[in-house]
Amino acid sequence: MKKHNFSAGPSILPQEVFKKASEAILDFNGMGLSLLEISHRSKEFVAVMDEARAIVKRLMNLGDDYEVLYLQGGASLQFLMTPMNLLTENGKAAYTDTGTWAAGAIKEAKKVGNIDVVGSSKEDNYSYIPKDYKVGADYDYFHCTSNNTIYGTQMKSFPEVDTLMVCDMSSDIFSRQLDFSKFDLIYAGAQKNMGPAGAVLVVVKKDILGKTGRNLPSYLDLGLHIAKESMLNTPPVFPVYVSYLTLKHLEENGGIAAAEAKNEAKAKLLYDEIDNNPLFEGYAAKEDRSLMNVSFKLTDESKKEAFDAAWKAAGISGLNGHRNLGGYRASIYNAMPIESVQVLVDVMKNLA
Ligand code: PMP
Repeated sequence: MKKHNFSAGPSILPQEVFKKASEAILDFNGMGLSLLEISHRSKEFVAVMDEARAIVKRLMNLGDDYEVLYLQGGASLQFLMTPMNLLTENGKAAYTDTGTWAAGAIKEAKKVGNIDVVGSSKEDNYSYIPKDYKVGADYDYFHCTSNNTIYGTQMKSFPEVDTLMVCDMSSDIFSRQLDFSKFDLIYAGAQKNMGPAGAVLVVVKKDILGKTGRNLPSYLDLGLHIAKESMLNTPPVFPVYVSYLTLKHLEENGGIAAAEAKNEAKAKLLYDEIDNNPLFEGYAAKEDRSLMNVSFKLTDESKKEAFDAAWKAAGISGLNGHRNLGGYRASIYNAMPIESVQVLVDVMKNLA
């Protein structure tokens, strides 16, 4: 039986995508060859890469001033590549510290240059999104994390800043409508809303690159990746293909607008239960609650054994909270059907 998968990532993808991806492993487009055994320079794979890049711009409504790359090293390598590509030798960058991953981005950037943390919720164990800060033109760029996967907080709006805007959208990319043209650089590990682990998506406004005066190692140079059309070295062919299938599925099913409406309905169903059921309480500040990762805990720990047994018996998987926070976390990414959220809500109701 297929489980109700609430895993935070790698995570649920559309069942149809799994099917098409497995077919391509055995015989890609009737070639008599597996997707995994053809050259990345073959016309068949180049077409996949071209379309995987183009579909991102269509979904985000971005023009030719942006480029799309699929790289390796995960979002974690972008923690480093961002300052390498955007921070001038004597410049400084502004960051918000909103969770473990934001802190990871800050840690890496500090190895490259001067970083100011302009907003932080660390003192409150990252339970809310800081909002009271200004970022002036004296910064080379501003970096934020749109959704904090572990704590379950999400930026509902983005600040107006007088510098470049960079965002780690790993855990909520393609989940809601945004004016993507407000961002100069977006990156996201594929393994949540987009595809399998092994690729990181980078969307970058071309004219911001090449201005730091740094002599970058080749793989760390976004400009070089653009010049090589995301094929500087052998790209992660399978993650790129499965990301393409996932984005095509999204596009054919109403695009980001339709996904957003579903995501709002799923989150409301679950947060309403958390708020109305005396056995549970949410973690994140209400106004900052994530539509992707719902962190909550039991109000009475003595019910833990019964609750854990009940959700496991209902075919639910991946509900345990991250080790940094404990409790429970229900990740309800784009591919999660509302029926699975209803199964969890029913288990919570029955426990009460
Ligand atoms: N940023 C966020 C918001 C994440 O959730 C994660 C991983 N869960 C990362 C960065 C790190 O991504 P990766 O494992 O692809 O390096």
